[in-house]
Amino acid sequence: VNVSAPIGAPRLIWCEYALVDGRVCERVAIGVAGHRFTSIEADVECAPDARRLSGLTVSGLANTHSHAFHRALRHRTQTGHGSFWTWRELMYTAAAALDPDSMHRLARATFAEMALAGVTCVGEFHYLHHQPDGTPYDDPNAMGAAVLAAADDAGIRVTLLDTLYLHGGIVDGSYVEPDQRQQRFCDVDAAHWAERVGALAPARGQQIGAAVHSVRAVDPASIRIVAEWAAAAGQPVHAHVSEQPAENDQCIAAHGSTPTALLDEAGLLGPWFTAVHATHLTPDDVHRLGASGASVCLCPTTERDLGDGVGPSRGLDAVGVAMSLGSDSHAVIDMFEEARAVELDERLISHDRGAFGASELFDMAAIAGHRSLGWADAGKIRVGNRADLVTISLGSPRLAGWSAANLLDALVFAATASDVTDVMVDGCDVVTDGVHRSVDVAAELHASINELLG
Ligand SMILES: [Zn+2]
Repeated sequence: VNVSAPIGAPRLIWCEYALVDGRVCERVAIGVAGHRFTSIEADVECAPDARRLSGLTVSGLANTHSHAFHRALRHRTQTGHGSFWTWRELMYTAAAALDPDSMHRLARATFAEMALAGVTCVGEFHYLHHQPDGTPYDDPNAMGAAVLAAADDAGIRVTLLDTLYLHGGIVDGSYVEPDQRQQRFCDVDAAHWAERVGALAPARGQQIGAAVHSVRAVDPASIRIVAEWAAAAGQPVHAHVSEQPAENDQCIAAHGSTPTALLDEAGLLGPWFTAVHATHLTPDDVHRLGASGASVCLCPTTERDLGDGVGPSRGLDAVGVAMSLGSDSHAVIDMFEEARAVELDERLISHDRGAFGASELFDMAAIAGHRSLGWADAGKIRVGNRADLVTISLGSPRLAGWSAANLLDALVFAATASDVTDVMVDGCDVVTDGVHRSVDVAAELHASINELLG
């Protein structure tokens, strides 16, 4: 990624409006040195040597749950009949066609699309590990390394959530062998997975976390090994949880427990843990998540696309579960759309408005997401934090009618990803005037997707 000043050189940025510690301030001068904010001062004139950002500037957004290669499926799976399970068939076709080079190209373009949307950090839930027949590549982490390089090229931070996947599912109460298309997702066992993950080499701005694909794909003894790995490494761990009622039924048939209870009993729940989707929870599941300090990642545009349902956001909030947001299958990459969907979907099921305000919804997209991915020093414009800035134009028809008093409402309930003009990640300029500085995003997406699926 090109930078407009040498990395580390102090810079001054001046924002027409900026969201500082939850409050919209006017005429804000922000000092940056190295990768961090060094000073913040509101109600000041723009210094001659400052970079001027018109519009509203906010902290970087975190896309907490991503499968980069699912981007290839956008508008190929939205028509016709079916369900999550029929969507999964096309996803398997895309998964079968990828190799480390094509994975790198597709992920690089997808992460660059995220950068254009104001995403400064992504959680990549990565389970495409091996060759199509399940044989490891010469470098057993060739696919993970391709994802890490792609995020570096796109200029965003990444937490690679290296995912354990062992079984083809649960049938009649028992785990079954992975089918042919699932072979490349699978390690021999959890010990081999841990050994492979230990060899991954993250660069600056990258972390290696863990994931349990789901209780369909990982048995309780193996879940316990992932929990022990995450505790020893001090790294975040995620799992798909209760995305589908069928997953709950299969888990109860095999174990007599819901997926959340099973994960709890295997030692996975705690402040380090994020349950992804958490759509079909029982009241006991909600209580367990709250008591453990775990968080939940909602993926409203994917859950809507797949017909999954709407998670109990109000109930989770009531027991203190922090919620973050992910674009997951990338039917849409727009964190403002994900954020307002939490409130708007809740209105559809509760027939009541106002469970979450703009400030709470924005925090889901910013600070809660970064925390879930292990970046406690990002997601807020604050001295000492990572210097991530996202600027939203106030000149589009979508936000017309804004006033200084309702800017955050305008942002969360009316802005789209295409209103983002400028993005800084860790002190480096990644997007300027709506253009990614090193990736031709539309052209690279088009080429890599058509190469894959024709
Ligand atoms: Zn997912």
